[in-house]
Amino acid sequence: MAKKQKTCEFKTEVQQLLHLIVNSLYSNKEIFVRELVSNASDAIDKAKFKEQTEPELYKDDNDYHIRLTADSKKKIFTIEDNGIGMTYDEVNDNIGTIAQSGTKAFMEALEKSKSEKTLSPDLIGQFGVGFYSAFIVASKIILTTKAAGAEMGVKWTSDGKGSYTIEEVKKESRGTKIVLELKDPEEGGQDFTQEYTLRHIIKKHSDFVQYPIIMNVQKTVPIPENELIKDKDGKTIGESTRTKQEDETLNSMKAIWSRGKEDVTEDEYEEFYKHISHNWDKPLAHIHKRFEGVTEYDVLMFLPSKAPFDMFQANRKHGMQLYCKRVFIMDDCKELLPEYFGFVQGVVDAPDLNLNVSREILQEDRFVRSIRKNLVKQIFSILEGLEKENYIEFYEEFGKAIKAGIPTDFDNKEKIASLLRYKTTKSDGKYISLDEYIENMKDDQKEIYFITGAEMTSLANSPLLEALKEKDYEVLLMVDPVDEWVVQSLTEYKEKKLKSAEKGDLDVNKVDDKQKDEYSALLKFIKEKLGDKVKGVEVSSRLKDSVSCLSADDFAMSSYMEKILKASGQAAPNQKRTMEVNITHPVIEKIKTIFESDTNNPVIQDYSDLLFDLAVVSEGGKVENPSKFSKLVGDLMVNAI
Ligand code: ADP
Repeated sequence: MAKKQKTCEFKTEVQQLLHLIVNSLYSNKEIFVRELVSNASDAIDKAKFKEQTEPELYKDDNDYHIRLTADSKKKIFTIEDNGIGMTYDEVNDNIGTIAQSGTKAFMEALEKSKSEKTLSPDLIGQFGVGFYSAFIVASKIILTTKAAGAEMGVKWTSDGKGSYTIEEVKKESRGTKIVLELKDPEEGGQDFTQEYTLRHIIKKHSDFVQYPIIMNVQKTVPIPENELIKDKDGKTIGESTRTKQEDETLNSMKAIWSRGKEDVTEDEYEEFYKHISHNWDKPLAHIHKRFEGVTEYDVLMFLPSKAPFDMFQANRKHGMQLYCKRVFIMDDCKELLPEYFGFVQGVVDAPDLNLNVSREILQEDRFVRSIRKNLVKQIFSILEGLEKENYIEFYEEFGKAIKAGIPTDFDNKEKIASLLRYKTTKSDGKYISLDEYIENMKDDQKEIYFITGAEMTSLANSPLLEALKEKDYEVLLMVDPVDEWVVQSLTEYKEKKLKSAEKGDLDVNKVDDKQKDEYSALLKFIKEKLGDKVKGVEVSSRLKDSVSCLSADDFAMSSYMEKILKASGQAAPNQKRTMEVNITHPVIEKIKTIFESDTNNPVIQDYSDLLFDLAVVSEGGKVENPSKFSKLVGDLMVNAI
């Protein structure tokens, strides 16, 4: 029987696709290795599957593996597998045409748009570039393959330009061999015949492929004792090592996420964590789970124990990697977890995902969104389950990151809020949760009080808290800049309102109107003296021991927020605050007496300034005119002594 043979023209759409692949992926050349390895791995999957029903066809060659060979002189890269192989018809159908449905849809889109120029090259990533990606690096491809049980092998050859030929050939072994005649590497570009380049690519993209990816490599080995050349004293003369060609498996094959939990040791988890995170610390906890249902996927995630130094850098990579059937698709997969969990390291292996899915597509993908939802749930539950002390350790490292979830993840706001911990006016330096706060609330207390600022000690001692302390109400002390954003969007927790201790009417201490009236003339006068420095001067309901403080309106920006914005060079309104004075303080009474006997007494101007400066100092602020301040205080001391 005559050997089958034919030469075919690539269809226009295939030519367009090839052109697009080569031109849009030129900066990401190495992915061709991943694509070919993944095809080979799939072909072995299929062979293994068929072996179950037709063991006779496979039993002589079922040591499944993928072999890479490189010849730098001839500029040839070869990948070979002993997978299922292809028949003549299969080659005809699969190679040189567009079989994949996704690719077809893509080609239709391409067709529609008439010109590829209107399509973004990024689009290519959404579709299975697969085998064709080899043309990014190859000037010629020779594929030979033989299906199990077939008499003849098949050879497919093309330069990827206009045409390809298919012919029957002799081939001994089952499986597929793809020889790439490489284009010259660009200056400084990767040389795909170099052992270390291939090693690196396999480690990066295909480390967890289930079958060994073997390469014959040169190794330096010690010369066996009995072959060493020695002098009469028994000392080795000459070489003690020699080089030797040896097969080496480049991938670890450890897809530990697809193994059962009970089969993975803690050491293996740890090693894997270090491998993917490039960290040296032990992970704090891990989540290893197979999700089953409409779609199945494996998840292995780690909570690090130490925050990376660059946690808050905008361009920091996320820790999640996406795999499809143990083949790496992408790292830094921001779609799998919200930003505030960006520090979680791990892998999702979703067999139903398109291998070449792009980031844009991932965002829209319902499947990916449901994975994300489940992962978030898992992380919440593991955090909730941590021992109190462990959780605090974790919180000290990653609390800041988690807080960023409050203003950004509306659906999980309450859950995230339950993870928050704060030191308080009553907690003695310990962190408490909002739930604990609520439990500790006084019977007549309606709201959750907090105060924000840069520094713990001055916050804890702020005069703004005096009345609250007197009522024995606890106040959360918030010293992270991000807390400002937390309290802006977390206005309520478990039906309790969060209330800033520095804003609005605290409603804890009523001052009767008659008393207020007695002071109104003095306060009006002080306001005039202070002018634009304050919004108003009022009788305070929050002071007990201190003489004055500055407070803001309910909806005004907190003083800390104003500072943060200004420090970061952003425009912040110069908000005027209200100066509150403590009319139960003897000083105020004395000033009132002076004011009532002589309105024009110049000390009233000085005292007005002092009251204001004291308010500023008491909240840890800087007085406008320190030398005037110290002179006034000095004079007062002289008079007092
Ligand atoms: P994809 O792998 O995304 O389907 P490709 O263009 O890479 O697209 O491959 C097309 C088809 O060619 C595959 O679906 C498979 O049937 C066949 N094929 C590719 N490589 C091999 C291989 N090494 N062994 C057997 N069949 C292969």
